[in-house]
Amino acid sequence: MSTRAGIVVTGTEVLTGRVTDRNGPWLAEQLRLVGIDIAEIVVVGDRPDDLTAALQHLTAAGLELIITSGGLGPTADDLTARVVGEFQRRPLALDAALEQRIAAIVERLQRGRGWTVDPEAQAAGTRKQSLVPAGATVLEPVGTAPGLVVPAPDRTDGPPVVVLPGPPRELQGMWPAALAAPAVTAIVAQAEELRQRTLRLWGTMESELAAMMRAQGDALDDLEITTCLRDGELEIVTRYAPGEQDAYERFAAAVAEAFPRTLFSPDGASIDEIVARLLRERGLTIATAESCTAGLLAGRLTELAGSSDYVLGGLVVYSNLAKHDLAGVPLELIDRVGAVSEEVAVALAEGARSRLHSDLGVGITGIAGPGGGSTEKPVGLVHFCVSDGVRQRPARWVIPGGRSEVRARAVLLALHLVRRLLEEDSDEASAQAGA
Ligand code: ATP
Ligand code: MG
Repeated sequence: MSTRAGIVVTGTEVLTGRVTDRNGPWLAEQLRLVGIDIAEIVVVGDRPDDLTAALQHLTAAGLELIITSGGLGPTADDLTARVVGEFQRRPLALDAALEQRIAAIVERLQRGRGWTVDPEAQAAGTRKQSLVPAGATVLEPVGTAPGLVVPAPDRTDGPPVVVLPGPPRELQGMWPAALAAPAVTAIVAQAEELRQRTLRLWGTMESELAAMMRAQGDALDDLEITTCLRDGELEIVTRYAPGEQDAYERFAAAVAEAFPRTLFSPDGASIDEIVARLLRERGLTIATAESCTAGLLAGRLTELAGSSDYVLGGLVVYSNLAKHDLAGVPLELIDRVGAVSEEVAVALAEGARSRLHSDLGVGITGIAGPGGGSTEKPVGLVHFCVSDGVRQRPARWVIPGGRSEVRARAVLLALHLVRRLLEEDSDEASAQAGA
């Protein structure tokens, strides 16, 4: 049986969707790394009864560990420490030394910011944050709030509850200390490592993959495989015990054999990382001229640190005149074939190359909608071209969805077109090596 944990994310702002939960997924991944499986992430608002109910639920589910995030601040609506203390039947007591350490932190922060607050209110907040359930381990503050590891009630074998602050930076900073707390160390010690590997395909349908997996029969029984379609990429995440490494290798080889042309990431690397690696390996630079994505591709290419080694720049050429003035696309050409056309995409790619002096150029022109479509040129029609000066690889897609989906998907498609052009070299090389 695997060791399993549950997470309670607290905060009305997360429950209502105003803030996207970053703590649950992050903790789930950290737990996996130490061999603990995640059974549930429960999101509750800032109401004590709801938090208690979530703790009861996860304890009744027989989980070995519970982690909470949020509600550790100095104000009255921050009630996690009190509720967890009550739940574990451990009365709160003031930790005077902790109170002094928090007071010192708060004072330093205020001096840094150059303002002061009502000293009485501040002292009350600090005192509140220094109330520690009996027998709990204190995790030193990363911001101002300390975390806690609160063991099960005396003479019971329920799960300990790790109480962490809400701000992701604070929660992440406190995680090593949480892992080092005796009650947590004991659980990690009995957990078996779980491996996780990712494969990514582009251009294979989920149903094709499902059929291939059915044909594997019981060879996949000891692998936990989840497949998910993300932005047109098919992602296969497999989790398994170290003893099942061979079973996984066989599965990965079967996927590679069944989908040799669409399996683009056998090691889980993202398309962004692959494009970056290929450009580096070949010592090539890239530049863009973007109409309907207006710089999104250049932005995406520069998300990875170190991208200045191969990204030279990007032209945002939304109007016809900008296409002409910045990328050198002849106005006569635009008049003749229209701005959204293969010819203009090619001219944009070449314009990016020549104006920015890069090896590769990418041109994108399309109709993101919702207006501006016609029968021959519907909303979602996007023309691309990737060129290295010798090879021009134009492509055309009609992308479904709203404006932001069309633009986002166009960026992804462009990245795959760049990858394909760069991989043509290795395909040729391996064909020659095989000949
Ligand atoms: P504080 O001392 O800042 O009040 P806290 O431990 O009480 O810390 P919360 O009040 O629950 O934490 O959250 C503070 C802020 O941290 C939230 O407004 C939100 O911006 C961020 N935050 C909290 N929980 C999450 C989460 N699960 N995902 C992303 N951000 C979060
Ligand atoms: Mg708070």
